[in-house]
Amino acid sequence: MPMAHPPSLCKDYPVSVPEIIRIPILPFNMVNAHLIKKDKGAILVDTGIPGSEKKIERVLRQHQLTFKDIELIIVTHAHTDHAGSAARIRERSGAPILAHKDDVDYYTRKVPMSYCTTSWVGKLFVKTPVPHEPYEAFEPDILLENAETMSLSDFGVEGVIRHTAGHTPGSIAVELTSEDVLVGDLVASGILIGGIAFTGHAIRPPFEDDPQTVSQELQRLVGSGFKRFHMGHGGPLGADEVMRHAESLRSLAAGRPVRGRLGHPVP
Ligand SMILES: [Zn+2]
Ligand SMILES: [Zn+2]
Repeated sequence: MPMAHPPSLCKDYPVSVPEIIRIPILPFNMVNAHLIKKDKGAILVDTGIPGSEKKIERVLRQHQLTFKDIELIIVTHAHTDHAGSAARIRERSGAPILAHKDDVDYYTRKVPMSYCTTSWVGKLFVKTPVPHEPYEAFEPDILLENAETMSLSDFGVEGVIRHTAGHTPGSIAVELTSEDVLVGDLVASGILIGGIAFTGHAIRPPFEDDPQTVSQELQRLVGSGFKRFHMGHGGPLGADEVMRHAESLRSLAAGRPVRGRLGHPVP
């Protein structure tokens, strides 16, 4: 006689369609962090410049959340406007920090960040103290290595975190099955450092290591069906505009003339 299955002791973690909430670190979309808000709790993606805790707390409160509701802190890359408040927010929330190994020497401040400027904006910007503003060093608690991905299902979100190099060596993106993708600085939109005006127009961020790799990653994301691109500067953008930008970057990398504006008009 077949044995009856015992009742399952496994508890299902409810998976809900998450809400993506922009956290304005600087006005006019110039610098954004994001919250992925679930039925219960949230994931923070990027942490703003050093001292952004109050701005993040204000948005949490607007959504009836506190730092203790943050279950995971994802840092997309090691630039100061994304990693700047990570150590402090980990202290306040108790949540682990997830990042990619290829940026870890910058997170720990073992190696100073290097910048490949993309335009006159980047060249001016890199001469100011802002990009070099030191942030509190931290060791990420969860490190992605090479091309490995991590599912967010343990955090009640359908999606994965994936290595998307090109902006910095260890840049990552958060790909959700809702067709939303949070790409950090893989692409920006607007003017100057991003945001401010013309936010429907994709531009290169002020710094970018390798436009060819960025182009490939953006094409892969569009090809995978992502419809809404949430970014650290400006945005969000739709897939068509991201594809136009990716093709311009590919032409740039191949040394062909680029149609349309890739970045910023020369003053
Ligand atoms: Zn960046
Ligand atoms: Zn940035």
